[in-house]
Amino acid sequence: MPIVLIEPRGFCRGVRQALELLDRALQENPVYVLNEIVHNKTIIAAYQQKGACFVQNIQDAPPGSRIVFSAHGVPPETRREAIQRGLKIIDATCPLVQKVHAEAIEFTRRHIPIIYLGHKNHEEVRGVCGEAPQNITLIESIDDIQLIPRGRRQYAVLTQTTLNIEDTQKIIAALKKDFQIIEPKQKDICYATAARQEAVRKTAPQVEAVLIIGSQNSSNSIRLKEIAEAAGAKAYLADSYRDLPADIKKYKSIGITAGASAPEYLVQECLAYLA
Ligand code: SF4
Repeated sequence: MPIVLIEPRGFCRGVRQALELLDRALQENPVYVLNEIVHNKTIIAAYQQKGACFVQNIQDAPPGSRIVFSAHGVPPETRREAIQRGLKIIDATCPLVQKVHAEAIEFTRRHIPIIYLGHKNHEEVRGVCGEAPQNITLIESIDDIQLIPRGRRQYAVLTQTTLNIEDTQKIIAALKKDFQIIEPKQKDICYATAARQEAVRKTAPQVEAVLIIGSQNSSNSIRLKEIAEAAGAKAYLADSYRDLPADIKKYKSIGITAGASAPEYLVQECLAYLA
């Protein structure tokens, strides 16, 4: 069966940087990590083995201990709570997420209201919204445009870093019909998301199925699955080859990619399984 290894795939710079910081922190124990350092089950299990304590609240880390903020970033309130508790912060927020935080702060300082495109319950979105909750209207789809207050004509538009580029362009085009829109000079959807999506868009029409190695809570991996499906391929998002359907070998051709937080060895295992 022809198998296409789709490139680029897997780890992005932000994920590598976050994991390097955590590795360095783990040279001494204990280390607390707020939420999942990156959204990948295999990675989380591996770091639990190495001694990392994953917690969901600042209050779960003992006063004076070290706490790592995940690649997705945190709201400023969380940072304040950590400082008040005397925690030593190790900040693994991706610089490209920090860029969106900085834009939210700057537009708010200039009294420009913000429309933020993102998925409501994602940690990155909670972090950015926390910078200026009174100034940000969060929307997830074209239908949500009706939720935007009509009192103002001009809005800045920011986005989550891992959105589907084509869907985002459609929403921004729809927004431009109703509002005067200011966009950041450099787009918020990151280079890694853009390149991985483009590669899947090109390959999916040439294969019967696309396998995306990644976790079910990984936003960028979910987008890759949607893009493969939209291109007409059957698509599967799986943590490893063990989670694939039993009849996966029935396809005549398969493309394999991986989300930005999925390690390459899982792709190679999948390749060996299908060969
Ligand atoms: S996917 Fe993009 S924004 Fe997210 S960690 Fe990677 S480089 Fe940073």
